Amino acid sequence: MVKATIAVLPGDGIGPEVTSKAVAVLNKVAAKFGHDFVFNEAIMGGIAIDTTGDSCPPETIKTAEQSDAILLGAVGGPKWSDPTAPVRPEQGLLRIRKHFELFANLRPVKTYPALAQHTPLRADLLQNVDMLFVRELTGGIYFGPQQEQGNGDSAYDTELYTVPEVERVAHVAFRAAQGRSKKLASIDKANVMASMRLWRRTVVRVHEDYSDVELEHVLVDACAMYLMTRPASFDVLVASNMFGDILSDEASVLAGSLGMLPSASLGAGTFGLYEPIHGSAPDIAGQGKANPTGTILSAALLLRYSLGLEAEAKAVESAVEQVLESGARTADIAPRGGEYISTSEFTESVLAAL
Ligand code: NAD
Repeated sequence: MVKATIAVLPGDGIGPEVTSKAVAVLNKVAAKFGHDFVFNEAIMGGIAIDTTGDSCPPETIKTAEQSDAILLGAVGGPKWSDPTAPVRPEQGLLRIRKHFELFANLRPVKTYPALAQHTPLRADLLQNVDMLFVRELTGGIYFGPQQEQGNGDSAYDTELYTVPEVERVAHVAFRAAQGRSKKLASIDKANVMASMRLWRRTVVRVHEDYSDVELEHVLVDACAMYLMTRPASFDVLVASNMFGDILSDEASVLAGSLGMLPSASLGAGTFGLYEPIHGSAPDIAGQGKANPTGTILSAALLLRYSLGLEAEAKAVESAVEQVLESGARTADIAPRGGEYISTSEFTESVLAAL
């Protein structure tokens, strides 16, 4: 039996709708496999700004510190969307990632045959697409020195990486590849950027510890093309913060809907933050239309990476697959003009399949 405490940060918009469904799935897993999960809820994002003036109040950090993992919904919405406001919902997200040094963002992207017609790609290209992005999350150009200059007529951002930053994310990627098909693609722009030459040199050195893994280097612009022309050829991909951000969003098209995809942000230990890749979807909030799959699959990643419960994670993933194969659809993945079921009904089907 595993005892675990999980901090739940529902956030804004559809966040509370989808996190409550993932908690229901985790409760079902606990009952079925004999585990003891305790959930502690805390505020984050817009709701936290409204309540305390801070997007990630100290009590929320404390709740997370006393937990084995964080399950997060999404933050933000039109009410807090002024980019010049001194306090913004996304700041809370960046702060919590930095606080726990969650430097590796894992985003599995899989195409479900049942959803192939929901992507703009030909069905034959989508066969066997099952890849894992490992994106560096706390360094690079999003965190390097930046400045607007003069009268705002010039500005710069700096892509800055250190060897230890690249080493630690490369180790995560090589280990992930060892647990899959032992193939790793390292994405860079070593032909142009000094920081990316450091990236490539470092990945090559880390590779010496993982001789069973086949390593290829792919330039980021070529990778953007290959993701659309031969997506099934990739298994694990490791990329810098910005390249990983852009490419993993591009790859999300392969899954049929933003609502389908989970993510895990990990640090040096087993603690992690798990969240769907989508935002707070204010356009559908409160209507029972949100697809809870991305958050339910994030809960599966939590079971796998923070609690070491591989069989339980697989059980959740195959329950989702079974439900999709049965034809159950939320609005975002329903055929045009076709029937769809609510967030709660879809979740009930997943619970029944479990
Ligand atoms: P979004 O991901 O919220 O929505 C984009 C589109 O996808 C919308 O049409 C939405 O209805 C749909 N969608 C998203 N998730 C869905 C789901 N689970 N089921 C069905 N449909 C879904 O992106 P956006 O509209 O650009 O941003 C809305 C707000 O979310 C903004 O305030 C933005 O800053 C914030 N945001 C937060 C995060 C986060 O918390 N990690 C990430 C991205 C955006």
